[in-house]
Amino acid sequence: MSRWPHDDPASLAAFYGDPAKGEPGRQLVKVVPPFRMTYEGKPIPYIMFHRKAADALKAALDAVWEHYGRNQAAVDRAGISKFSGAYNHRLIRGSATRWSNHAYGAAIDLNAEANGFNTGHGTMPQAVVDCFKAQGALWGGDYKGRTDPMHFEFCSREAVARPATLMDSPQADADSDAGADDDQQQGGDAPAPSSRRGFFGRLRNWVVAGASTFGFTGIGALTDWQIAVALFVFIFVSVVCTVGFIIWFFGADPVRAWVRKHVA
Ligand SMILES: [Zn+2]
Repeated sequence: MSRWPHDDPASLAAFYGDPAKGEPGRQLVKVVPPFRMTYEGKPIPYIMFHRKAADALKAALDAVWEHYGRNQAAVDRAGISKFSGAYNHRLIRGSATRWSNHAYGAAIDLNAEANGFNTGHGTMPQAVVDCFKAQGALWGGDYKGRTDPMHFEFCSREAVARPATLMDSPQADADSDAGADDDQQQGGDAPAPSSRRGFFGRLRNWVVAGASTFGFTGIGALTDWQIAVALFVFIFVSVVCTVGFIIWFFGADPVRAWVRKHVA
């Protein structure tokens, strides 16, 4: 049994307060991270978080700090000192009614630039994921469908025994907008790892994460075959350009002589 409310509007509002009435916003406290953190390059002295989840957030960050040997440079290298947002009074984009888990003050985003949507597990270190999960948090990298590896939230998707009349109607995939939203809710109760397994799966996750680092966050929406073709074309063009440059630089005759000597 999770210590966190089930991820549905009624349970979240009962625990954290109703965002429509501005209740979570009045229950925020300051969480001082154990290491230096920045938001868009500027240092932040604390993170505003819901008082009921603040200790858990602090414990997760403390565990991360311990994992990296209390070494600021190591935390920076892992990208975890890049804070990308927590409390945010807003709806899920594409939904007219459903509040983002950020509106409850119970979700935090880390290193958004390297962990965009649909980047599989992004670059989020497993150790960091483990530190948050030890506090019962859910990780957006586990979402089915569109993943959100920057995102951690203090709620639960464990199946709960409730009278049928109180069960949520399954959520339509209302938030499956392609915009820069950082939330995803699912109708299902159990998160299933969405990361691909096997060689091609790892290759895909790697390509998607790499591309997102350079700002091409839409790649996760492509099918496996589209990504395979794009990767092939990229490698092919790279090889042609490299050979072309060598021939242009050295001239055709020296290259022909080199090939004759070393290859033919
Ligand atoms: Zn988020």
